[in-house]
This record gives sequence, structure tokens and C-alpha cells, in this order.
Amino acid sequence: MQAQELFLKQAEQKLADKEFRQRLSSVLNSYEEKRLEGIKEFSNLELARQRAAYTRWKVNENLDKYLVDFEGSVIRRGGKVVWAFDIPNALAEIDAIIKRTQAKKIVKSKSEIANEIGLLAHLRNKGNDIVETDVADYVLDKMGDKSYHPITPAISQQSDNIAKTLNKKIKSSLDADNQEFVSDIRAEIRNNFFEADLGITGANFLIADNGSVAISENQGNARLSFAFAKTHVVLASIDKILPTINDLELFFSMYATHSTGQYLTTYNTITGPIYREDMEGPSEFIVILLDNGRSNLLATQDQRQALTCIDCGACSNVCPVFKMIGGNETYQSYQGGPIGQLYGPLQQGISDYQYLSNASTNCGKCTDVCPVKIDLHNHLLRNRHEGVMQGTEKTGDKIAWYTWKKFMLSRKTLNRPAGIKNFTFKQLYKNEWGEKREFPKIADKSFNQLWREKHGLN
Ligand code: SF4
Repeated sequence: MQAQELFLKQAEQKLADKEFRQRLSSVLNSYEEKRLEGIKEFSNLELARQRAAYTRWKVNENLDKYLVDFEGSVIRRGGKVVWAFDIPNALAEIDAIIKRTQAKKIVKSKSEIANEIGLLAHLRNKGNDIVETDVADYVLDKMGDKSYHPITPAISQQSDNIAKTLNKKIKSSLDADNQEFVSDIRAEIRNNFFEADLGITGANFLIADNGSVAISENQGNARLSFAFAKTHVVLASIDKILPTINDLELFFSMYATHSTGQYLTTYNTITGPIYREDMEGPSEFIVILLDNGRSNLLATQDQRQALTCIDCGACSNVCPVFKMIGGNETYQSYQGGPIGQLYGPLQQGISDYQYLSNASTNCGKCTDVCPVKIDLHNHLLRNRHEGVMQGTEKTGDKIAWYTWKKFMLSRKTLNRPAGIKNFTFKQLYKNEWGEKREFPKIADKSFNQLWREKHGLN
């Protein structure tokens, strides 16, 4: 089945699931409330957003230079940077590292790139022993589910289902509360950190001038994932660069306030290859830089601004579409929500993923909350324009819109009896409207007819 068909099918299912929608909305609303509280920490939020947007824009416009600077800095400090053009490339590099280092046990912390490349399934298929160390990702892994949201991946799961799974897999009590579940999972994971040969983490930011990697988290598991391992592999996309370590002062807090409402997340780690005087830490440090279609975005005139995203998730939390049909999996793309809708068609191909640009009300709320001022809703319109220019519109859509235009421009047609208009609309749009919603009825009389009647005009 095509991505668009799957998207429509899943979206329809989610829309019909009232309980799911209420749960999703309530979690997302609570994140938005936390963001509104968190941003009060800034004496001048608008200035902070402008600074953040400018810094990320500067990097984006000179990405070739900053990436090479980052690589040079990592190499000077004894680390290595691997350039992965696409997913098979990235997976092959990881396989080669595991083979060369003879890693038996692998621990992994939260990483959007690991999800994008399907790392867990790939390594397990090859017989590797890999453990998820993020609590939410651990739960999803045990439940055989995927991440729904960049900050709260297990948002989709009901607590009684989580309880049943953890009871079966790690013998947690069925009556345990959230705190007890977390304790049980941590107890289960703990020894893996000490036994790991290889630690795989994501990265929130890559620092060009000194080759550091910055990781923001609340559980401490990312730090532990490489603290005892001999080799630390960082998975990052090419768009994660900040020019200098001083920029973290702004970006750590922008990320935290806009993702979880904290002024800073609990753990903010700046790591990299070990210095000669360091007593401990991984002896090998490798950063895998993934492109996977991001160069296509960079090649666009306007929408390349999407690459300045810092993955805070704030745009998804306020998106009326995401609140109804989230999360990421519904969208059939690497990411869901407004940023995923902007990214997807340009990263994965307009011909197959243009539906993402259309799945938006264009209310502009996403743009209002974005800490780096990405013009999300207008870029979605630009994506749509691009799609039309490339001829991705379906014949059925063209006919529907042609008919709509004719209809709306003709006073005679607009004043036809409601029965005829209702019949015509149903024929044109019933498939898109779906079976689970009642098709809206057109008023018996048009505004024009009512006006004429009221004022006695013929
Ligand atoms: S587009 Fe903006 S609001 Fe959305 S995740 Fe990225 S940085 Fe956050």
C-alpha cells in the first residue's frame, strides 16, 4: 500500500478512536502548558528566538564549511567522523564498527536517527545483543510499538497495556504506579551499562569549533550509555551543528523550555573524544553523520529553513491535526507533526509524500511557538506549490477543484436547490471525507437568497 493510502487509513482509525484522541490531546495540552510556564524564564523571549534563529540560519547557509570544521575538530581530538549518504550506508558503517570492535553487548539511548534508520530491528536481525536504555523507548520496544513523539515516545500507550506488558516481560507488579515501573525498568537495564562494549547515543547539537557533542536528557541513561563502553558511536544528522560551545548557553535552554517546560533538562552532557589526561571514557569516539535526503532540503530556496529545527516537539504539541491523528507513525514518514510534514516531501520525495504538505489546517500555531522561528505553515504552502508545479496532483483532485471553482464562480449554480448541491458535493468529496464522519449538509438557501428575501429583492 502507498504511504498516502496508509496515512489516510490510519488517520481515519485514529479519528474514530475517541479515547485515543482524548488521551493524546490531554498529554499534548499539558506539554503546551509547561512550555508556556517555561518560557517565562526568558526576560525577552522574542530576542532569544531571534538570536537562535539567526545562529541556526548562519549555520544552514554555510553548512558545508561548518560540517568540515566539525570533522576537523573531531579528528584533531582523536575521534572519527563517518559520512553516511543514506540509511544503508549508515547501517553498513555500524555493522563494520561492531565487527571490528567485536562488540558483544550494545546499549542505546534515545535517538531520532536510530529510529529513522531502523537501527534496532537491523541489529537484532543480525543477531546483536542491543538494549534500549531510555525508559519510554524500552517500554515501546517491549510492546513492539514505535515512537509517537520526539519527547514523549510512548504517548500512544494506555497505562494498563504498559502494566500488562511489563508484568509479562520483567515481572513488574500489575498494580505498580509509574514510579515503580521506572524503578523496575532501571533495575533491569542497569547492569547492561557496565557490560556494554559499544554505546550508541543521539546528539542534540554538534559543536563545530571543538568537535564536541551535546546531549540534553532527563534520565541520565545517555551519559551512562557511553560512560563504561569502550566505543561511543554518535548518530546525528548533518543539520545538528552549532558554531561554538558558547551557543549552548542559549540552545540548551531554548530546547528545554520548548520541549518540557524546564529551564534546563536534568542532564546536559558535553562529550567527545577523550583527552590524553582523561582517566576514563570510551577509547574510541565515532560520529556518524547522516544525510538521507537532507541535502534535497538544503537545495531548496526557502524550505531549507526546516533544517534549523532543534527537535523540541513544540509545533506538534499545538498542531490541531497532530492532536487528532498523532503521532509519528500515522504520518508514514520519519517524523510527524508540522516539521515532519514540511520535511517529509522534500526529504523522501514529493511524488510519494506530498500528502503530508496537505494534511494541515494552516492555522499558523506551529510557527508561533517555534523557538527558531521556522515559518512552518507558509513553507507547507510552498511545498504544495512545488507539488503542483511538479504535476503531483491527481486527476480526481484536479476535477474536484475545477468543479468547485466553476461552482463558486456561478451565482446561478450557487442558488440551485440544496438537494442538487448536496448530491454533487457528496459525489465529489465523499471518499476524502471518510465513512466515519457525517457528511456536512449545505444550507437550504444560499446567503444571496436569504439576503434577497430579507430585503425584498428579486
Ligand atoms: S519546527 Fe520548531 S517547534 Fe517544531 S520541533 Fe522544530 S524547533 Fe521545535
